Amino acid sequence: MPTIRILIKAEELEAKRINDILERTFEDDGYATAIFETKAGGREWAAEILITDMDAEEAVELVRDRVGADAFAAPIEAEELPEINWVAKSLEGLKPVRAGRFFVHGSHDRDKRPFNAHSIEVEAALAFGTGHHGTTAGCLVELDRLLNRRSYNRILDLGTGTGVLAIAIAMMTKQEVVATDIDPVAVRTTRENAEKNGVGPLVKAFAANGVDDRRFGEEGPFDLVVANILAKPLTKLSAPLSRRMSWPATLVLSGLLEHDGPRIVSAYAMQGFKLVRKRSYDGWLTLTFVRGLPDA
Ligand code: SAH
Repeated sequence: MPTIRILIKAEELEAKRINDILERTFEDDGYATAIFETKAGGREWAAEILITDMDAEEAVELVRDRVGADAFAAPIEAEELPEINWVAKSLEGLKPVRAGRFFVHGSHDRDKRPFNAHSIEVEAALAFGTGHHGTTAGCLVELDRLLNRRSYNRILDLGTGTGVLAIAIAMMTKQEVVATDIDPVAVRTTRENAEKNGVGPLVKAFAANGVDDRRFGEEGPFDLVVANILAKPLTKLSAPLSRRMSWPATLVLSGLLEHDGPRIVSAYAMQGFKLVRKRSYDGWLTLTFVRGLPDA
């Protein structure tokens, strides 16, 4: 099914109000919402929501339905976004990435592997994580640093995508890593990539939304977790994820924009985590937290 982009144009205050309603009413569906200026001068704004799993007509109906009592005069526009596999597309012709001691590359760059790096070969397939994103690179650099300083008992890569971070950890530590994702395609991709990189037996991948699944209890508690998701789910996950972690523990979070920093820091502070490192790559933050440890 394609992605439907719904736009509701209005003047600034009204568009912001509509955006608030969309955010609130669609929060549990996980659809992305946004608000932006459509024309220079700030005269016209648009509230946007991207809806999946239905056609344009149904999506418009759904928005009308949900916004219901707050019915507004602004017209609703719907547009079907072309189905492009951006991840696969972005990998074509991409250059390999060096992050810390890791070298992430596609099969076409196999011959460029440096002898002194941990080389990770990933095909993007349908999952996110080729090393080209600032968040992935940020996590790799931070993992490289952390794993060099001390050892960990149980390690979790939450929101594993292509499995790139779990593979990096397994390569460096020769230890088992639990890798989970809400998306079963990502889990399959992770298994294939782990196998291809010679760490298949070390990467334990399964599909799960967040950390409620009982398997997290069986596999944990974790003393190192890396989660490169997004600010909203990471905020929601602060309490349940912390419960799956041991004391002491280290946590690396990414997928955050600069302005998300304070919200995340305070959510995790409530769980006893102290921010010990903050780095920015291409405008994306990677934050490292510890609890029960002097630093990381
Ligand atoms: N770890 C990879 C991929 C990051 S993309 C890297 O660093 O490159 C974020 C991944 O988180 C996606 O694969 C997405 O499917 C997954 N994700 C999003 N919400 C999730 C949730 N609630 N529980 C588990 N995984 C989730």
